[in-house]
Amino acid sequence: MALVTISGYPCSGKTRRAERIKIALEHRLQDTSYAGPQLRVVIVSDDTLGISRDAYQDTRSEKPARGALFTAMQRAMDRDTILIIDAMNYIKGFRYQMYCAARELKLRVCTVYVVATQDLVKEWNETRMDGKTYAPQTLDNLLMRYEEPSSMVRWDSPLITVPWTDEDIPADDIWKAVTEGNVKPPNAGTQAVPKAPTDALRALEATTTAIVTAIMAEQAASGGLGGSVTLALPDNVKTNVALPARNVTLSELQRTKRQFVTVNKKAIILGTTEKGALDWSDGSIAHRFAAYIEDNIWQ
Ligand code: ADP
Ligand code: MG
Repeated sequence: MALVTISGYPCSGKTRRAERIKIALEHRLQDTSYAGPQLRVVIVSDDTLGISRDAYQDTRSEKPARGALFTAMQRAMDRDTILIIDAMNYIKGFRYQMYCAARELKLRVCTVYVVATQDLVKEWNETRMDGKTYAPQTLDNLLMRYEEPSSMVRWDSPLITVPWTDEDIPADDIWKAVTEGNVKPPNAGTQAVPKAPTDALRALEATTTAIVTAIMAEQAASGGLGGSVTLALPDNVKTNVALPARNVTLSELQRTKRQFVTVNKKAIILGTTEKGALDWSDGSIAHRFAAYIEDNIWQ
């Protein structure tokens, strides 16, 4: 029926809020004025799955933990359930995947962003009595890696923000989102589906690497004559690039690639992917990188 994705810093009060949300939703479902289908409210979290805080000590041990959460989420999602995912859900690409899975099942979605300052979560981490403390270094690391949800992107909206200063949760907004919100179709018609940041990053790396390889091969074949050449890339992508009349070295190309990747990575991470400002298809990346090479390698 619906997926409520909680997101927030470690120790920011997510579980506290999730439990209150569950109670508020159950209360409304039992109200005599409610005429909709009978629904269960279920919380899935690291705690319900028995995932230890230590799993977040490094990105390698974190991956299976995230996989377990995703599997449990898919198993629990159905038409008779309001599912609350009580976890940091701090990776944009992960929230996007969750959103896609929900959309496949035609579930309503909303994201609840539990906000507390970094100082407060550090304090609460130290003083919590339930043994669920993060190692200080793990906490710092997670705070640094946290990718804030944004109401500008489809997969985080509607976005409901709950600051630490609020005593209560905005139950009305959440209730509205899970019972009345738009159900997005699995395929947005002919509209180009924006790439998830992780896919865009992969395309960026793969396409620029392919171009560097293709230019080196082209120069080896032509002996560095330069001029406009057509590079054939994987998946039938082609692009033209004007090369100088000399052999461009591999290290020059790699330096140029690194600069291009750094700048574009920033655009992807800042979320330009979703606003339609830039297109992260292989073809578009190829054309832009070719233009960048022409601007930065000449003579
Ligand atoms: P999370 O699920 O994000 O790790 P919890 O809900 O388990 O966070 O809360 C972590 C600790 O922080 C608990 O000890 C809790 O009492 C404290 N805490 C959370 N939110 C607040 C708040 N708004 N004010 C005071 N203490 C809070
Ligand atoms: Mg928790």
